[in-house]
Amino acid sequence: MDNWHLSSETGVILNNAISGEPVAEISSGGLDFQDMVDYARNVGNPALQKMTFHQRALMLKQLGLYLMERKELFYECSKATGATRSDSWVDIEGGIGTLFSISSKARIEMPNSTIYIDGQQESLSRHGTFTGQHIYTPIRGVAVHINAYNFPCWGMLEKLAPALVAGVPCIIKPGSQTAFLTEIMVQHMVQSEILPAGAIQLICGGVGDLLDHLTYEDIVSFTGSAATGLKLKQHPVIAKQSTRFVMEADSLNCCILGSDVKPESVEFDLFIKEIVREMTTKAGQKCTAIRRAIVPDNKVDAVTQALSDKLGKINVGNPDNESVRMGALAGLRQRKDVRSAVQQLRLDSRIIFGDPDQITPIDASSDTGAFMSPVVMLAENPDHSSAHDIEAFGPVSTIIPYVDNEHAVQLAARGKGSLVGSLITNSPDVARQVILGMAPHHGRVLVLNDACAKESTGHGSPLPQLIHGGPGRAGGGEELGGVRGVKHYMQRTALQGSPDMLSAVTGVHLQGATRKISDVHPFKKHFEEIEIGDTVVTDKREITLDDIEAFAELTGDTFYAHMDHQAALRNPFFDGRVAHGYLLISAAAGLFVWPGEGPVLANTGLENLSFQTPVYPGDIIQVQFTCKQKKDRLTEIWGEVRWDTTIVNQNGEICAQYDVLTGVANSLQ
Ligand code: NAP
Repeated sequence: MDNWHLSSETGVILNNAISGEPVAEISSGGLDFQDMVDYARNVGNPALQKMTFHQRALMLKQLGLYLMERKELFYECSKATGATRSDSWVDIEGGIGTLFSISSKARIEMPNSTIYIDGQQESLSRHGTFTGQHIYTPIRGVAVHINAYNFPCWGMLEKLAPALVAGVPCIIKPGSQTAFLTEIMVQHMVQSEILPAGAIQLICGGVGDLLDHLTYEDIVSFTGSAATGLKLKQHPVIAKQSTRFVMEADSLNCCILGSDVKPESVEFDLFIKEIVREMTTKAGQKCTAIRRAIVPDNKVDAVTQALSDKLGKINVGNPDNESVRMGALAGLRQRKDVRSAVQQLRLDSRIIFGDPDQITPIDASSDTGAFMSPVVMLAENPDHSSAHDIEAFGPVSTIIPYVDNEHAVQLAARGKGSLVGSLITNSPDVARQVILGMAPHHGRVLVLNDACAKESTGHGSPLPQLIHGGPGRAGGGEELGGVRGVKHYMQRTALQGSPDMLSAVTGVHLQGATRKISDVHPFKKHFEEIEIGDTVVTDKREITLDDIEAFAELTGDTFYAHMDHQAALRNPFFDGRVAHGYLLISAAAGLFVWPGEGPVLANTGLENLSFQTPVYPGDIIQVQFTCKQKKDRLTEIWGEVRWDTTIVNQNGEICAQYDVLTGVANSLQ
């Protein structure tokens, strides 16, 4: 391994989508798939898992910068896929952007560690000696990424980013039709030497017996048609080993024109723009494209007219010509498939714009190039239309009329589970009714109106911060969604045991674990000198009525429960005038802070605050202040320290509990 394998077998010739000329020949013949899996498991996985989440996230950022510097090479190659410059932007820069985004989310939201703490500690026993905590640890196998042909770069990078942050090596299998572009990008990734050996491998061509070598420690993440997905899901090894299987399949996404929207309104124009954009970007070869335009029955004519006007102005042809707005499909086979799907749709829908079989492309020929006109259809019977079942993976959309909001929701659900649906409306009432009806059938839902249109990323763009995937027909999978996507490559485990034992395992001080009262105030220690469990138990302080009066005077917070004894008595929570919660927090700081100039640089936040027992004049408070967790920041001269802060009264009752976050300098700054 660690080399490029050239197949000696005759491969499949891939043709330029615009000119029809051959661009590449691919074959995976002769590859030893068992060797590939072993290499990933035995070389890639250990190398990646030696690193922390932050180290891997920084590696991803470096990789993104490296690829971005070479982006023009990828744009040049992308032309052969039939894409326009803006189509390629989504694929190339959108894909690289995913590396940056996941890298940044991981460094902000994950610890600089090799395990991830999931949620809060669970209290499992009366005396606190037995407790629970969920954690995530990276799986020890390989991620097999089987991708569709429509996004040769983005499709690869959006899966690679979370897998690599988790520390899992990847075997990438791109859709054959555009694998030549994926291959060039992978070549550059390898040349960069940024990733450790075994972190990525590429298969151009079939996967042979690859899946036979997988176990429960591996993951297959598939993007493509529902038919292929189903076949792979039923693979005996995947079924028997319970190999993780994520499926992103095809989807009959809808866009609903709200019943409130009038043809002369801004929202009507937004609807038309959204449909046209989704039909023509990547020539409609997007899993998220709008296949079904669900329109109030009394607006069908207006929508037909407006769509026809706009689509009539879209120039189709060779993207080298600056006037061209829509390029070619990825290949002649793909065009044949789309034409055949349109034939099936025609059984119960009629074409109201475009001719699927005729086009005169600009600066190109439709005999050799995979060009096709945008096609709009109108469903004859909205409730029983093939548009709810058949995906034409190209510039094809069907208008489906509805009578009222409930009907619109029913039609949206006929997609049997979709990646994304959108509603164009300016009415909060329509939005609430329709969106709550749609949500259970969709992975993502966009509500679009004039207020957000300028900054909206649109119906068709999956974003690294948000989950991508949908129920039912869409595959039932979930990808991206920031750190959620990273967790797909890790195992969640419920840990149970004593607080001390679980603190030792997780590296986080849990409630009930031993506190280490140190001679030196922890505020005098540098980041790397502070130990988990380091504790200050402060002096005691009485809270007086004068304190409450003074705090009210200083802050202007004269809420009746602090100021008026009788009114406070009428409040079911209190037995008289009560101290401000914020007074307690301030007084607590006065107790635990060491005032001199030292390594603690700033208080950067306060989280998980709860007030539990009221504090009355005459009560005496004391603070236990314990280092709970440390987050190293590799690129900074300081790290973040989280302190468990508990305020107790003279009876030992907890009055308030929260995490104080501080920035603490390293000694080597
Ligand atoms: P496809 O024919 O299902 O192929 C998808 C991938 O599976 C390709 O890499 C393909 O390789 C591979 N494959 C096919 N048969 C296989 C087998 N027996 N074992 C292992 N791998 C196999 O889909 P496509 O034509 O490439 O892509 C278009 C479809 O993908 C559309 O239906 C679209 O809706 C869907 N899609 C979904 C998403 C999403 O995120 N939900 C995104 C993009 C596309 P070859 O190319 O070598 O056959």
